[in-house]
Amino acid sequence: MKNKVRHVLGISGGKDSAALAIYMFEKYPDINIEYYTCDTGKELEATYQLIRNLEIYFGKKLTLLEAAAKSHEDPFDHFLKLYGGYLPSSTSRWCTRKLKLEPFEKWVGDDPVISYVGIRGDENREGYISKKPNIQSIFPFRKNMWSEDVISKLFKNNLIDQMADWYQQTGSYHVERLLEIVKEPLSSKFVQKDKLDALLDLDTPAFNQVVFAFLKTTHYPLSGEANFPLLDNDEVLKKDDIYDILKRSGVGVPQYYEEITFEVNGKKGTYARSRSGCYFCFFQQKIEWIWLYEQHPDKFKLAMEYEKDGYTWMQDERLEDLIQPERMEQIKEDQIKRLERAKNNKKSLYLVDKLNDEVEGCISCFL
Ligand code: SF4
Repeated sequence: MKNKVRHVLGISGGKDSAALAIYMFEKYPDINIEYYTCDTGKELEATYQLIRNLEIYFGKKLTLLEAAAKSHEDPFDHFLKLYGGYLPSSTSRWCTRKLKLEPFEKWVGDDPVISYVGIRGDENREGYISKKPNIQSIFPFRKNMWSEDVISKLFKNNLIDQMADWYQQTGSYHVERLLEIVKEPLSSKFVQKDKLDALLDLDTPAFNQVVFAFLKTTHYPLSGEANFPLLDNDEVLKKDDIYDILKRSGVGVPQYYEEITFEVNGKKGTYARSRSGCYFCFFQQKIEWIWLYEQHPDKFKLAMEYEKDGYTWMQDERLEDLIQPERMEQIKEDQIKRLERAKNNKKSLYLVDKLNDEVEGCISCFL
């Protein structure tokens, strides 16, 4: 007999996954979602506070997944020793794999799993967590809540007639126009994204019903569910909505996102941390390292202690060199210029988004 489908939601300690947890808890109370978090042992206190606030809000503990749970050391330190002091980097990200992905995959085992992921409707990236076929990702904040692999399978030209049949059964008010779109084969002039956007723009719930009918013909985890309450959902949530959810619920926005004003050579600028994750994360920008040095000097000092035997957090600079007065001035000046550029381009008012726009990160660490 097939195992029961599990619904899970990972909370990274960042704003988007926290807001998604609250959103799902409020809007879909009948889905039995297992909320979990992975602890590296190296987060900032504000992240642990967010987790505690969520636990108060839910009235229950989150499931804590800890790599090397029997070790007497923090998970990160345990694995760092196994890797001979070799610090992780964007090209060798053993930390995400060992501290987050492997504990998660071990926890879900072979059970069919729906994993809810907090990629926002205003983000242009695909959410990827696991390659395991028993784990299916759903993105409730986006207009297209389905993953790329599902869409590309459904949009094969040989499924056009079948897709048209499914559309007939939706009872959509726009069925005639929808069928015209469905029947147009993909080509260099009408690519998958064009077709997807056209169908979603016309009737998102009808599109979701068609995808659900398609999934029933596959081995994806959702094929084991009799119904799926999110099919009617056509909401798109953007960054302002995320902040609203966190504030309104009382859970609050993690303190490290708050912009702090600094002054350099008579000019003012602001800085903050753009993401959750380990305080020494190598994805940080230089200005975020300065933020850490000035706002959490104890953590910066600990991060410096990891830099030994030729291993450094950044490829081009040691932390010791980064905090030389002239270097710090230069980084702050660069930050002011970047903020001005963002203002002129009329980008988001939030510093965190200005930084995020420019830096790739790790989906399972920072959402
Ligand atoms: S936050 Fe950064 S250092 Fe920590 S596990 Fe994630 S990628 Fe690695």
